[in-house]
Amino acid sequence: MPAPTATADLKVGDVAGYADIAFEEKQRIVSLVIDDPRFTDYLYGCYECGICVAACPSARFYDFSPRRIAQALARRDVRLVYQQIQEDIWECSQCFSCLRCPRGNNPGGLVTIMREVAVNNGLASAREALEGYSRIIYKIMSTGTQVSPDMLQPDAFPDWGPEVKDVSDNLALWRRALPPETLHTVSTGWDVSDQTLIELYLIWFETGALNMIGEVDKGLHMILEEVMQDRLEEAGIEI
Ligand code: SF4
Ligand code: SF4
Repeated sequence: MPAPTATADLKVGDVAGYADIAFEEKQRIVSLVIDDPRFTDYLYGCYECGICVAACPSARFYDFSPRRIAQALARRDVRLVYQQIQEDIWECSQCFSCLRCPRGNNPGGLVTIMREVAVNNGLASAREALEGYSRIIYKIMSTGTQVSPDMLQPDAFPDWGPEVKDVSDNLALWRRALPPETLHTVSTGWDVSDQTLIELYLIWFETGALNMIGEVDKGLHMILEEVMQDRLEEAGIEI
């Protein structure tokens, strides 16, 4: 099977779905995947050997198959690839065990590209998949750390048993008992300096990561901009 290199030979697929979306729009979305500069490095054709499926943890637990992803893209099956972008790709755990493909394919990398296209184009699947992560994204981008100790509340983790109540009631005390000074906080995992936060923000801004968030969650994007604008002004930085 020849390696896919261009979008000119995109074919109409056999699988129906998302009939309310015009074929031209599906073709545009799939073309963005195939035209990505990484694409030709990630897909060289497919033997249908199933080795990637055997290695894939998501294939074990979900109706998901890296082989199906590679096959659909190799066939330029526009309708099926579009359907996979709206459904399948969010089941991948991005572990890259599928890199053991004997054909040199990288199905996990293909999924990465497909996810980026879904987010950059504000597809419904991307919004739904990321809906539950707003709080975590906000935490990471505004504090530089992810889960903070004050999230450790008994009602949030009822299955953790009675000890969690004692920990949450005396959280500040427990945190002060930790040796590194930067861990004596309860609203962040550890203290991150303003300079580091500004550098991170500028990286997210320059690489377009912030715009990606704007595509899937405008409210979160606005809040992040406001929070960081104050820090940038204090540091005398204009962007
Ligand atoms: S990266 Fe995704 S497709 Fe590849 S093995 Fe991991 S879960 Fe499966
Ligand atoms: S391991 Fe590679 S060649 Fe085999 S089915 Fe998966 S993508 Fe195709």
